[in-house]
Amino acid sequence: MHPATAQPPPLPDPAPRDLCTDCGVSRSSDPKRCGRACQFIRPDYAAMEQRIHGRARDPQRPDELHFGPFRQMYQAALREPRSGAQWTGITTRLAERLLESDRVDAVLTVTGAADDPWHPQPALVTDPAQLADCRGMRMGYAPLLALLEPAMAKGYRRLGVVALPCQTYPLRALEQELGLERLEIIGTPCSDNTTTAHFHRFLELLTPTPEQVTYLEFRADYHVELRFRGDGKREIPFLQLPIAQLPADFWPLTCRTCVDYTNALADITVGYMAGRGEQWILVRNPRGEAMLELLGDEVRLRPPRSAGKRAGPVQGFIDNTERAAGGMPTRGMPNWLRPIVGRLMPYVGPRGLELARARLEMKAAETLIHLHHKAPRRARAMVPEHVYRLVEGYRIDGLERPEPRRRRARGRTFGSGGVD
Ligand SMILES: Cc1cc2nc3c(=O)[nH]c(=O)nc-3n(C[C@H](O)[C@H](O)[C@H](O)COP(=O)(O)OP(=O)(O)OC[C@H]3O[C@@H](n4cnc5c(N)ncnc54)[C@H](O)[C@@H]3O)c2cc1C
Ligand code: SF4
Ligand code: SF4
Repeated sequence: MHPATAQPPPLPDPAPRDLCTDCGVSRSSDPKRCGRACQFIRPDYAAMEQRIHGRARDPQRPDELHFGPFRQMYQAALREPRSGAQWTGITTRLAERLLESDRVDAVLTVTGAADDPWHPQPALVTDPAQLADCRGMRMGYAPLLALLEPAMAKGYRRLGVVALPCQTYPLRALEQELGLERLEIIGTPCSDNTTTAHFHRFLELLTPTPEQVTYLEFRADYHVELRFRGDGKREIPFLQLPIAQLPADFWPLTCRTCVDYTNALADITVGYMAGRGEQWILVRNPRGEAMLELLGDEVRLRPPRSAGKRAGPVQGFIDNTERAAGGMPTRGMPNWLRPIVGRLMPYVGPRGLELARARLEMKAAETLIHLHHKAPRRARAMVPEHVYRLVEGYRIDGLERPEPRRRRARGRTFGSGGVD
């Protein structure tokens, strides 16, 4: 990860909000817009997907229930991986190409703060070379959208934005009133974010030299990968992570109840979950298609693959989450067995698309269980119909079922563990 090249002026303070990831709207000239723009208040994903992508999730394409509308889906990698990137750097390369091809005036994304490269800080980038400083994943919340008004004030009417799902939703909700000529959203999936302070505590538990860590990723093969200054690298199986030593609020309620893992309202989603060690791209609409074309032969694209069965692991996850009664999932495995299971999981657990489907179902169950325990009145307004459908076929005790309005599209069991 690189330090920031240019630090923006200080941003206004956020307005205090319940269930908020400080996307930046509350720091704008009209903080009341949160009421109609926030993912955590009364989102309408179905209407937004229809408006942005021109159609709803297609029941004839079952993966759209999990991943949202998409035209093409790929396992992908840049032929020349970029230094400092989280994976191969497709995300920031797309943003570079938007600027290089003059499709946008500026790109809104995050970089590392001057005093802490792990702390995400919003950045408005006009020079493609500057995007090298933005590469990499930082755990924490960045008030990205606080820079929308400054961007407009500078006359930038054509914007590219790299956004997490809880930043994409408010951006889409406000898109029409912003007066932009063009908006191109490169989304990444997101799950299990936390504050940067919590993240530092996590690093301290993982290694005696946390200040040497330059990279961390929760990989699709059930390992956390750490890279250190110099050439050092360490891989830790998920089952050996010091989860029990983390504070109960390590993952905030926002991220435990987030309803959009795959960034369904972006033009293109770039992640890794179904990539089997490479990246995973969902092209959602013609803007996303045009963006991917800007990469030409730089990117290697392959059909995504799938293996394993998700039903057992998902039900196990649900049982653990319920046992913890809305707190941290418990692990019912003796310590001596963990290294063995940790090594086996990459071979026997769900992989590729099946892993991505499993994670979507786990996330849906987690959202419903935590809202049921911590904020039951929120669930009715906050949870889209498709989230309930993702957990059909699984056993969740004591879950308050939604009212009929939300259940009208029932009729299929999606939790049965099928593989393409
Ligand atoms: C907290 C978090 C959780 C994630 N969880 C998943 C997951 O479960 N599954 C999955 O497939 N992908 C997840 N991702 C996305 C993944 O880490 C990679 O960003 C993605 O695969 C793109 O890789 P890349 O090499 O193309 O990105 P790069 O070219 O390295 O670019 C990464 C981009 O992400 C931006 N970014 C980094 N941190 C933040 C942040 N905190 N807030 C806003 N923007 C940020 C950077 O500014 C940069 O523009 C997560 C990302 C974050 C930030
Ligand atoms: S819109 Fe953004 S700033 Fe406002 S409450 Fe939601 S996450 Fe917080
Ligand atoms: S998990 Fe959801 S709420 Fe948390 S940072 Fe990611 S997109 Fe936002």
